[in-house]
Amino acid sequence: MEENNKPVVHLISKPENMLKTVYTACRTCYSADTPFNIYNSTDDEEKMLKLIERVISSGHYSTIEHIQVTFAISNVSRACTHQLVRHRHMSFSQKSQRYVKEKGQFDYLIPPTIERNKELKEKFVNFMGEISKLYCEFTDAGIPAEDARAVLPNAAATSIVASLNLRELIHIANLRLCSRAQYEIRQMVKAMCDELIKEEPWLKPYLVPKCERYGFCDEDKSCGRKPKLDEIKAL
Ligand SMILES: Cc1cc2nc3c(=O)[nH]c(=O)nc-3n(C[C@H](O)[C@H](O)[C@H](O)COP(=O)(O)OP(=O)(O)OC[C@H]3O[C@@H](n4cnc5c(N)ncnc54)[C@H](O)[C@@H]3O)c2cc1C
Repeated sequence: MEENNKPVVHLISKPENMLKTVYTACRTCYSADTPFNIYNSTDDEEKMLKLIERVISSGHYSTIEHIQVTFAISNVSRACTHQLVRHRHMSFSQKSQRYVKEKGQFDYLIPPTIERNKELKEKFVNFMGEISKLYCEFTDAGIPAEDARAVLPNAAATSIVASLNLRELIHIANLRLCSRAQYEIRQMVKAMCDELIKEEPWLKPYLVPKCERYGFCDEDKSCGRKPKLDEIKAL
């Protein structure tokens, strides 16, 4: 188990010249010039960013679908990846509980609310131990891993390779960085965004919770970061 109980996320693949590629896609829509000439004749970052912001703000999202990125993610729970795999414009390859048999205590993640409570944490850890014993009893008796896994919990640790285009990443960031999203997927998506922003700082204004993009909160219960829409309407 990783010591810090936090998702481990690495950006393992992204295209060269992301900014220029997105700019070329945007500019091609409004130019008599060929995309290849546009690509080769532009280096003015400020000009590129200005056009990209205008195009994205107008909802012209196909321009950001040309960028595909891949993350290697580990030390997350099955509960967390179960939420991630609900996103339909992504590709996944996940550690299989059919083909990878647990040997001894399986790795698991302890939710911070339980981690902070000494007594409940002890019960949690003991219960994971009991599950592990039962799992091993089953596999030792010849039950295949694909059936023994029926007793494994949502907390079981997993690894996943996840690929997606920039449009989907922005969509996921807007949803899952919201303080109303579950803490673990929020941490994981934050780590994905931070990894990409390290390499492509121009993406920072897009990889934010939805309220930052909209300027208001559309959740029933607001964290107070931005005013609720009806509060703005009442002004
Ligand atoms: C805070 C939060 C709580 C949630 N709670 C629950 C819950 O209690 N139960 C539950 O089952 N799920 C829950 N979900 C998951 C949610 O219902 C979606 O399954 C998940 O967010 C992925 O769908 P998406 O709309 O974000 O789009 P994605 O699958 O990421 O696709 C991106 C966009 O593509 C478009 N799109 C994709 N597929 C279609 C389609 N078939 N038809 C039309 N347009 C499409 C939509 O515009 C969509 O927004 C929750 C999600 C969040 C963020």
